Amino acid sequence: MISGAALTAGPGPAGSLIRRPARVFGGYALDLDGTMYLGDELLPGAAQAIAAIRAAGAGVVFLTNNPLRTAASYARRLSGLGVPAGESEVVTPLGVLTAYLSREHPGAAVLTVAEPLVDATLAEAGIPVTADPAAAGVVVVSFDRTFSYAKLLAAYRAVRLHGAVIVATNPDPFCPTPDGGLPDCAAMLAAIEACTGARAEAVLGKPGEQMAAELLRRLATPAADTAVVGDRLLTDIGLSRSLGMASVLVLSGATSAGELAGAAVRPDYVIEGIGQLLPAGAPDGPENRSTA
Ligand SMILES: [Mg+2]
Repeated sequence: MISGAALTAGPGPAGSLIRRPARVFGGYALDLDGTMYLGDELLPGAAQAIAAIRAAGAGVVFLTNNPLRTAASYARRLSGLGVPAGESEVVTPLGVLTAYLSREHPGAAVLTVAEPLVDATLAEAGIPVTADPAAAGVVVVSFDRTFSYAKLLAAYRAVRLHGAVIVATNPDPFCPTPDGGLPDCAAMLAAIEACTGARAEAVLGKPGEQMAAELLRRLATPAADTAVVGDRLLTDIGLSRSLGMASVLVLSGATSAGELAGAAVRPDYVIEGIGQLLPAGAPDGPENRSTA
């Protein structure tokens, strides 16, 4: 059963689970797939919700765990779907990665188990990339559709023989696709961890604290005045918890009402879709708090 005062009864099949936010937050961090759009289709009310957030003077960033594309390409995609967005408003694991390496391992050479975009992103950020296991201080592992035994061997040698640490871009075991999905970063990470006996010192992306800190830095809002909006309990709602943000689950993507009812994770708010994100009558201030 649903516990506590977090959820109130309402009409409709998922009605007993629905709890719509009764306030406008200072900042919103929105998941993309399943929250803003599904495949090539913008979800109902998405463009209006973002326009209303901006009209209310609140901040917006968009989040993805996919390390295969740049922030700029996500911004172009959103803009093409009718939601104008800038590159700096998109947080991907690669943006978190360059910030993490610059802060935690300044000057260290990085050996990658990744696609070329990762190497290019690191190089652009002034982070040295090496193919020499003996020279590597960090092994970065990512979603890599060009993964090979040669790459695994190089990572093994860097970690096992030369003491490099492991950093992973995202924790996803597979990436959903229309034809059944693709093995994602966690699969490559598991191979490296298995042969080295080492564990990643950081796994970036949702629900990790580094991603949470990065989105708060971009929004420049306090955690308590920031809402994370997404369709997955473990990544999106989990992310909100790491630094004390509010959480809004949308039922338009990966999580069904039935799964939510049986889950241990409890979002602060639950809505059918992003069209219900703002209170009726928003933009508005504290006087807009309803009894919902
Ligand atoms: Mg999603």
